[in-house]
Amino acid sequence: MGATTIVVANQKGGVGKTTTAINLAAALSQRSKKTLLIDLDPQGNATLSFVDPHEGQLSVYDLLVDPDVQAADVVRTSADENLDVIGSRISLAKAETKLIGEFDSHFRLKDKLTPIIDLYDYVVMDTPPTLGILTVNALVAASHLIVPIQSSYYALEGTDDLLDTFEKIRARPNPALQFLGVVITLFDRRTNLARDVKGQIENVFGDKVFRTSISKSVRLEESPAYKQSIFSFAPSSSGAVEYYSLSEEVIGRV
Ligand code: ATP
Ligand code: MG
Repeated sequence: MGATTIVVANQKGGVGKTTTAINLAAALSQRSKKTLLIDLDPQGNATLSFVDPHEGQLSVYDLLVDPDVQAADVVRTSADENLDVIGSRISLAKAETKLIGEFDSHFRLKDKLTPIIDLYDYVVMDTPPTLGILTVNALVAASHLIVPIQSSYYALEGTDDLLDTFEKIRARPNPALQFLGVVITLFDRRTNLARDVKGQIENVFGDKVFRTSISKSVRLEESPAYKQSIFSFAPSSSGAVEYYSLSEEVIGRV
C-alpha cells in the first residue's frame, strides 16, 4: 500500500524532466488520482506552474535541512483539488553543502514523507540535472524511476552514469526501486534524425520505452510562462493528448 512514488531523473540538462513531471502530475490528477508533486530543482520551475512562491513560505529546502519541519508544514494545495505541491526555491541550491557529512543525508526526504505518503495515490518528483544529493534523496524515496530522453543527436550520452546510480541505489538504500520506463521527449517525427535516435533508444531500452513519445510542441514550450500545466493552457494540444496517454501507460505499468 501507500503511494506510487515516481522520480523523473536524467542528469542531462534540458531533456524535458520538469515538463514531464508537471504534466504527468497534472494528468494523474485529471484521472482523479490524488497526486503530490515535489520540486527538487532549485530553479523551481515545476513549483511556479502551480503555486505562488510567497516570501516566508516553507519549501522543500526547509523540509530537508530542518529537523523540526514536517511534510505537513510544506505541502501546499493548488487550484486543482487532486494536486498538492511541495515547492522549491533557489535556497535549495544550498542543501547540498548543508547536508554533506550528515549521516542520514540521503534519507531525509524518504523519512519526512513517511507520515503523509498514504494520503496520495501518486507522488511525482522533479529533479535537477545532476546526480547529487537532491536527486539521490528522490531516488531513495521513490518506488519507480522515469527517464526522459530527448530525441537529439547525443540522446544516449550520460545514460550509463544514470543507470549506474540507479543500480547503486538498488544495491543498498532502496532495493525496491524499479525502472518504470523511458519517455522520448522533444520528438520531431518529421525528421529522419529523430526517428533514427528513437530507434537507437529502443535498441538500448527495449520495451522499457513508453509507446507514447512527447512531440516537440510550441504549446508545451509556452505553458510554463503562463504558470499552467498543458491541461489548463492548451487542453486539446498534442502535448495534452500525449501526456494524458503517458499517464495511462504509467498507471498500467505500476
Ligand atoms: P533542466 O535539466 O534544466 O532541469 P529539464 O530536463 O527539466 O531541464 P525542461 O525544463 O522540461 O527540461 O525542458 C527544457 C526546455 O524545453 C524548456 O524550455 C521547455 O519548455 C522546453 N520543452 C520541454 N518539452 C518540450 C516539448 N515537448 N516541446 C517543446 N518544448 C519543450
Ligand atoms: Mg528541470
